[in-house]
Amino acid sequence: MKKTEGYSRREFVRRGSLAGLSAVLTTGSPKLTLIKNSGIQKPAILGGQPAWEPAKWPKWPVWVPETDEKQLLEVIRSGVWSRASVVTQFEKEWANAVGAKRCLSVVNGTNALVVALNQLNVKAGNEVIVPPYTFISTVSSILSNGAMPVFVDVDPATFQMDPSKIEAKITPRTKAIMVVHILGLPSDMNAIMAIAKKHKLLVVEDACQAHLAEYNGQKVGTIGDAGCFSFQNSKNLPIGEGGAIVSNDDPFMDRCFSYSNLGTPYGTVVGAVGVGSIIQNTKVRFTEYQAAMGIAQLKRLDSQTTTRSNNAEYLKSQIKDIPGIAPYKLYDQVTRAAFHLFAFRYQKEAFKNLPRAGFLKALRAEGIPCSSGYTTLNTQPFLKDTFESVNYKKMYPKEMLDINTYNEHNKCPLNDKLCNEEAVWFTQNMLLGTKQDMTSIASAIQKVYKNAGEIKKLE
Ligand SMILES: *Cc1c(COP(=O)(O)O)cnc(C)c1O
Repeated sequence: MKKTEGYSRREFVRRGSLAGLSAVLTTGSPKLTLIKNSGIQKPAILGGQPAWEPAKWPKWPVWVPETDEKQLLEVIRSGVWSRASVVTQFEKEWANAVGAKRCLSVVNGTNALVVALNQLNVKAGNEVIVPPYTFISTVSSILSNGAMPVFVDVDPATFQMDPSKIEAKITPRTKAIMVVHILGLPSDMNAIMAIAKKHKLLVVEDACQAHLAEYNGQKVGTIGDAGCFSFQNSKNLPIGEGGAIVSNDDPFMDRCFSYSNLGTPYGTVVGAVGVGSIIQNTKVRFTEYQAAMGIAQLKRLDSQTTTRSNNAEYLKSQIKDIPGIAPYKLYDQVTRAAFHLFAFRYQKEAFKNLPRAGFLKALRAEGIPCSSGYTTLNTQPFLKDTFESVNYKKMYPKEMLDINTYNEHNKCPLNDKLCNEEAVWFTQNMLLGTKQDMTSIASAIQKVYKNAGEIKKLE
């Protein structure tokens, strides 16, 4: 692309036209000028200029050879690649970062959940309360331990499990509540912990999207009995693959360590000399090179979290008054959110009935990457498949495995609407952009809003 004074031509044209417009509209802040500008501009999907260039969004993951590679190269050249001192260092640093007494790293977030539930003795015959608005692993980790997921509908305003609907789902079989701090936004922990205490239930926090998020000044993942994190490549702390369990309960963490390491004695899990594996086990250990990458990534996590949070707040302020756009709401006790995703609800009635798919297409044409997020987890075929397995048939009475009855008891109509009609997501890397980037998103949405009727005619 031809460069004009260091800017690409398109950017030059954009900046030039903005400057011109601000000169005309002398009142109002530059951000308002931009939004006014967007209203009179033709949407890109109708042949106008895009609000932004997709290629300009911050790349993910971030990797800086100069600062990130020293320890990694030492590990590679040492030949010590299986679990050793660098993994221990990473675990100490992650425990410190979230304020937990202990941390155990494992291969990924999915297995962090599997191991934690296993060592909390969640097993065949138990029910685990879980929200439907989450990643598959939350639910599959319950099933891989032979337990039964029980879905509690979401509060669409916060996208989190609605605590007021939990108690109706508690039965004598209920053993645990799996809280998911979805989108990196903390769930309503005061309400959930009170219910857990009252009914003597365990609380496992799926914090796989919520690195450094806080509720009442306490990091999520450390409020319940165990917290699980993911370091998969898309997550806010990316290592390709990786996961961790955190807890303040020493015997529990010792058992998790032993279980994840072939059942060999560890800490309070004591074996006799000459005896090998002493508890039922698997092997899901982290490696030294993953740990070295994690230590490098952890150095920038705090400042990135602040940037995401500031940008999310600013973007929210810029779009919250557009009719039909309802951004995420945080509970009053949230002192920091991780914003793995920026989400809002799209209400097509305010957009001349332009369906969400048409809205997303128009937004993408403006250079704004976006998605509709999760599909409804509680209706997917894996549940029926699991219930038809030999193991489940041996573990549960027939009535409990009838998929029609199960579906009837696990309806989540508000989540259905969120997944099928309303949710819109921007990914966390977009929130590492500039304030100007956020204004562009707002301006693109504004443009689609003003021209929704014309855009709908393309359908
Ligand atoms: C990513 C994720 C997981 C699983 O983590 P992996 O490291 O990908 O196995 C579990 N729960 C939620 C909410 C997630 O976002």
